[in-house]
Amino acid sequence: MVIDTRHDIRHRPRVLIVGGGFAGTHAAKALAHLPLDVTVVDRSNHFTFQPLLYQVALAVLSPADIASPIRTIVGRNSNTEVLMDEVVGFDLAQRKVRLRSRAELRYDYLMLATGATHSYFGHDDWASTAPGLKTIEDAIEIRRRVLLAFELAERRKLETGSHPPLNFVVAGGGPTGVELAGAICDITRYYLRRDFRHIDPAQARVLLLEGGPRLLPSYPEHLSLKAEQQLAGLGVEIHNSTIVTGVEPGYVIAGGRRIDSVCTLWAAGVQASPVGRMLGVRTDKRGSVWVDATLNPEGHPEVFVCGDLAHFEQDGKQVPGVAQPAMQMGDHVAKLIAADLNHQPRPAFRYFDKGDMATIGRMAAVADVKWPFRAELSGFPAWAAWLLVHIYFLIGFRNRLAVLAQWVWSYFTFSSGVRLIYGSQHLPGWPGQSGTEEPPTVLDSTAHEAPAAPAEARPPDRPAAACSSGETFSRSTPRQAAASSSAGEPTAIGPESAGPTPQSQL
Ligand SMILES: Cc1cc2nc3c(=O)[nH]c(=O)nc-3n(C[C@H](O)[C@H](O)[C@H](O)COP(=O)(O)OP(=O)(O)OC[C@H]3O[C@@H](n4cnc5c(N)ncnc54)[C@H](O)[C@@H]3O)c2cc1C
Repeated sequence: MVIDTRHDIRHRPRVLIVGGGFAGTHAAKALAHLPLDVTVVDRSNHFTFQPLLYQVALAVLSPADIASPIRTIVGRNSNTEVLMDEVVGFDLAQRKVRLRSRAELRYDYLMLATGATHSYFGHDDWASTAPGLKTIEDAIEIRRRVLLAFELAERRKLETGSHPPLNFVVAGGGPTGVELAGAICDITRYYLRRDFRHIDPAQARVLLLEGGPRLLPSYPEHLSLKAEQQLAGLGVEIHNSTIVTGVEPGYVIAGGRRIDSVCTLWAAGVQASPVGRMLGVRTDKRGSVWVDATLNPEGHPEVFVCGDLAHFEQDGKQVPGVAQPAMQMGDHVAKLIAADLNHQPRPAFRYFDKGDMATIGRMAAVADVKWPFRAELSGFPAWAAWLLVHIYFLIGFRNRLAVLAQWVWSYFTFSSGVRLIYGSQHLPGWPGQSGTEEPPTVLDSTAHEAPAAPAEARPPDRPAAACSSGETFSRSTPRQAAASSSAGEPTAIGPESAGPTPQSQL
């Protein structure tokens, strides 16, 4: 079925935008005042501000703080409609796009901006054990796993007096890996500190594994070094030149060694959305579509490819897959189409690089600023700049206010408000979760206790915790006892650990 919309009746050019991310929403907004009709197709109903996804994953912000319905974003554009569907194929000769719903859409101009996805370098089976971070769903799943690890450790400590090592392994030392590792350290050291009675979350280890010789390889070398110093200060264990060769529930193999891991996160590889390869035009090894100076794949002036999906080279270098080029390309597509409508020559696209910034943790970041002045910042100034820029680019006044208020609140009170676990209580690799029926355990918080801690070691304002069976147990179990459990000690394969005998361990 071909969906014929009002555009056919009015005989205005029809622009079909596939992907309502940074590039797609910018293009739609820039096309609002031109005499044409625009359809935005996206498989989700919302735009996601990906730079703040890790804050959702680590329970600082709520999904609604960093996402907005695409309909709301383009709601004021009278020439624009939104369709929630997934593009699964093209007929470039007939100028038609096929949708998952089996419908087809016609276009005069097609803009593709479907972004990027994770790459597991041919090991797609690793994905279920080591999720990556691209969507709100990914962020909620990561949040579930990270928080669940602490819940299961608390419970195991009550049941047996010890728990498996709380090792969090982040694979990939680019901006996303750095953000995730720093943020996990932040929540274990600052935000979860007072939530548990029997384990000490601060004893968790966070290991960041990077295959290359340094973190943040796209940044100047001395900013990479500053980032490493700040991460190490937070407690992240950095292992450069350490390539992950195996990911299994409960552990990873990296640099020839086995590392126990209660939660493995993947930030090591990115590839273009599969939509690029569906086009049947020239793509690079990541699947990005080669485009010329007017953002067209070869031989298709009616098709524009933008954002992370595009391979665009400027001054001999590929423009990076970050938000600024995506937004600028989206704006530029409107200029290209306007030039056609006015029978003018199309202007060439040129990326205006304003710089890069990566946050590392609480008041820690690095920034390579190129506009409106040139500066290389690290520490608090970089973090303040990062904060301002990210709030500025959030869509919607409500979101900006909500995020600012949430940050101010959590930075001063050390509390983060959305530590919610949704869904299953299964954590891949957590010992004893095979699904087999186990005999009931009597939870007795005193059974495995070390001597009571001094009163000041305990948060003063906490009521006695109640276990799920309805029993009440004392809050006097000392955090120090948890520290002496396996969590803080060098990783060792205990009887509970799954998997084959390691060659050596970190
Ligand atoms: C965790 C993380 C942190 C980041 N941090 C930063 C940062 O700090 N600074 C920075 O500049 N950049 C950052 N980036 C990169 C930045 O977010 C991307 O470069 C940017 O989102 C690319 O924009 P885009 O429009 O090309 O794609 P996206 O914004 O990814 O949008 C793609 C859209 O296409 C839709 N889509 C995909 N496939 C289909 C299909 N087949 N049919 C219909 N719709 C489809 C998706 O649902 C999505 O809405 C980060 C990215 C991630 C994942």
